[in-house]
Amino acid sequence: MTYDVVIVGAGVAGCTAAILYGRAGLRVAIIEKHRTISTHKVLCGHFVLGGTQPMLRRTGLWEAMVDAGAAVGDIARWTTAGWFVPEPGLPECISLRREKLDPLLRTIAAGTPGVDLVLGRTVTGLLESGGRITGVRVGDEEIQARLVVGADGHRSPVAQLAGVPEDVAPNERFGLWAYYRGVVPRGPAASQIWSLDPDVGILVRTDHDLHMLVAFPAKARLAEFQADRAGALERFMACLPDAPDLSSAERVSKVIGTNDYPCVRRDPAPRPGLVLVGDAAITGDPTPAVGCGWAFRAAEWLVESTAPALLDSGDLEAGVAAYRQALEFIVEHDRIGRRDALARPANPVQKLVTKAAYRDRELARRVYLFSMRAIPAAGLVSARTLLRAVWGAIRP
Ligand SMILES: Cc1cc2nc3c(=O)[nH]c(=O)nc-3n(C[C@H](O)[C@H](O)[C@H](O)COP(=O)(O)OP(=O)(O)OC[C@H]3O[C@@H](n4cnc5c(N)ncnc54)[C@H](O)[C@@H]3O)c2cc1C
Repeated sequence: MTYDVVIVGAGVAGCTAAILYGRAGLRVAIIEKHRTISTHKVLCGHFVLGGTQPMLRRTGLWEAMVDAGAAVGDIARWTTAGWFVPEPGLPECISLRREKLDPLLRTIAAGTPGVDLVLGRTVTGLLESGGRITGVRVGDEEIQARLVVGADGHRSPVAQLAGVPEDVAPNERFGLWAYYRGVVPRGPAASQIWSLDPDVGILVRTDHDLHMLVAFPAKARLAEFQADRAGALERFMACLPDAPDLSSAERVSKVIGTNDYPCVRRDPAPRPGLVLVGDAAITGDPTPAVGCGWAFRAAEWLVESTAPALLDSGDLEAGVAAYRQALEFIVEHDRIGRRDALARPANPVQKLVTKAAYRDRELARRVYLFSMRAIPAAGLVSARTLLRAVWGAIRP
């Protein structure tokens, strides 16, 4: 069988790319190893930051998620300087549990003209001709395509089959969470994040009136959380400033988590005819909740960059180069994310900026847009910010 594009993995990145390639008029096969449309990623906090809102609205996915019950709202951040509450009008976040999101995206992909969603098939090999990847092997079957997209998550079997080297960086926090009904937040926004330096606590309002209680402590505290994970999680949350009221809350899920989740980057265009998107290209630290948003946005950049060449048999390599360039937005943020993942106490510059932002509305706005991944990393991490923070500290 021959397609314009074959996508491996029907997660956030794969489904989004399939939907957008299909809408562009291309023939797409999207292959997913899980047999049912409802099998979903469990290890994911699914809090999608405000920087992804414009893309989700452009593509109609925002409305589809809201119709499926997604919770929409701001997130307030607690630091030692106090609460930072976003001013009205800044892009909101959205949260829909993966058990709802994954089937939704797969259903939209399967209903998009030109897209064949193939469930219950695992890609086991890559086809190659003249140094170019020309398709995938699924058991005995060969599927040819002009472009192969590895959207197969952080372990990326496709990248492994292609021998793509990995750039791995440590993550010195571990993470765990559970879903609760009946939580009463006491902080100033729908969702809240506590930057405790180095531990991080998060309260996320999500679909169907549920809240997620999330802890990302430094690994030094791992032993404390081993024996009774639910109890440790609840004790952690109870110690937070303006901690949510859990007195009437009921835990409705098991505790989910990971003790070690390193950051991984791979070349997003490692071989002619092959590109990687989503976690397969960049798996960041989960603490700042960036991965789903990056997967949505990178899929859109991939399609915008490569669909024109695929449609008119144009210069695909130029399109792939444009995709690589667009991904620099994520890479720049990921460089900073990797430093934060080391769970070291804030350095003097970070402390200065945080303190200054508390008194300076424009700086506070920039810090929020940065944390929402709504502006390039250089929009905050710059000499301009430092000068503004110093001026804020010394002015009468
Ligand atoms: C602890 C934790 C918390 C997180 N919390 C958040 C959060 O709050 N907000 C946020 O935005 N992000 C969060 N993330 C990150 C987010 O989960 C990922 O970034 C996101 O799922 C990446 O999407 P993806 O489509 O690239 O990969 P995935 O969603 O992992 O999808 C990959 C798909 O490929 C399929 N596949 C794999 N191999 C094959 C094969 N050989 N053949 C066929 N199919 C295959 C898989 O079955 C899967 O369906 C979190 C991650 C972790 C670990």
